[in-house]
Amino acid sequence: MDHVTGLKCTICGATYGVDEVMYVCPKHGDDGNLDVQYDYEVIASRISRESLVANPEPSIWRYKPLIAVEPDSPVPPLRVGWTPLYESPRLAALLGLKHVWVKDDGVNPTASFKDRASAVAVVKAREVGAEIITTASTGNAAAAMAGLAASIGLPAVIFVPKTAPPAKIAQHLIYGARVLLVDGTYDMAVELTLKVAKAFGWYNRSTGYNPYMTEGKKTAALEICEQLAWNAPDRIFVPVGDGCIIGGIHKGLKDLFALGWIDHIPKIMGIQAEGSSALVDAWERGLQGWEMTEQPADTIADSISAGLPRDRNKALAAVRETDGAYLRVSDQEILDAIPVVARNTGVFSEPAAATAYAGLAKAVEKGLVAADERIVVLLTGSGLKDIKNAMKTMPEPPIVAPTLEAVKAVMRNA
Ligand SMILES: *Cc1c(COP(=O)(O)O)cnc(C)c1O
Ligand SMILES: [Zn+2]
Repeated sequence: MDHVTGLKCTICGATYGVDEVMYVCPKHGDDGNLDVQYDYEVIASRISRESLVANPEPSIWRYKPLIAVEPDSPVPPLRVGWTPLYESPRLAALLGLKHVWVKDDGVNPTASFKDRASAVAVVKAREVGAEIITTASTGNAAAAMAGLAASIGLPAVIFVPKTAPPAKIAQHLIYGARVLLVDGTYDMAVELTLKVAKAFGWYNRSTGYNPYMTEGKKTAALEICEQLAWNAPDRIFVPVGDGCIIGGIHKGLKDLFALGWIDHIPKIMGIQAEGSSALVDAWERGLQGWEMTEQPADTIADSISAGLPRDRNKALAAVRETDGAYLRVSDQEILDAIPVVARNTGVFSEPAAATAYAGLAKAVEKGLVAADERIVVLLTGSGLKDIKNAMKTMPEPPIVAPTLEAVKAVMRNA
């Protein structure tokens, strides 16, 4: 990995060799998230905007020279990333804006953004010769890891809160992972996984602990800019739980700026559910990540329910360094956003994903967005992941007798 120069602590700035530490800064323990450092000259010698035009690879691996994996490491067969970016003039019009795009990450193999990180995780696990991979998850990270691990035949063990939506638990089981339902919150599952992985020597994919997850997640930012012909958008709306996606988006944009492929870095907008808004709170109060303490987390958007966001240092930097903002939206606003997005784009989102759109609507309401800004909304997971919450705002459809008369009667009353 001669394109990687080291791993830098997000708290103290100490830098370590990639063979020196695996996960976190030894001085800061499990909170010492590391940031992968690159040699952009080496990268620029291997990949360019021109070489990408000629590269037909329809996955995150089109950017392999920009990802911290060995150049000759085999990659999993499942096709992750290179997801569609749809312009939506109707969503834009609804909000009085001119240019709104949605990035549909629900079309990934296990139907969420988490596949981007898990694809990198299984490559790293193989690089270190791990025999078992594990993760804590609210549901999607585990589904992604179970699917990607199944694709290369790597055994996986999963820790999810027992309250995770049934569709996600079904994914874990069907892919053949060993599933342990934790009788507690996601935050408790994270702590448990740290202990277990250390005790058993398993490779730990957990978000905000494994530094390479940011590198998988950043590929969405690379794709957005390439899909917009390297005219970076003005603002990107990101739903935030642990803060790994938002940190990854920031990282991808910084990479592109360092390479001179984009001429500005978009403002990054972090959106949290009111009931799980530790990062909004820290941003408003000017706190650093390491000054934050665990808060209660309770929202219908299970994928972004995190009391102490694990990637909080990177998540706060993403918004502060780009002059963006953190905003909170209510569970009702999240539920209401699901059909609005679906009816105006054709993309059905799970609650956490719809949160990004609810955040855009909130930002417009607060006058934070100018009408001519070019806006991207990250739709991070499929609506099929959580039917129960989606149906909460839907009316019961009528039941009709199988006759023309019955249909006519129903249509008259509509
Ligand atoms: C995990 C997840 C998020 C939030 O990502 P973080 O890195 O935890 O902030 C948002 N939406 C969906 C669908 C997710 O699965
Ligand atoms: Zn440190």
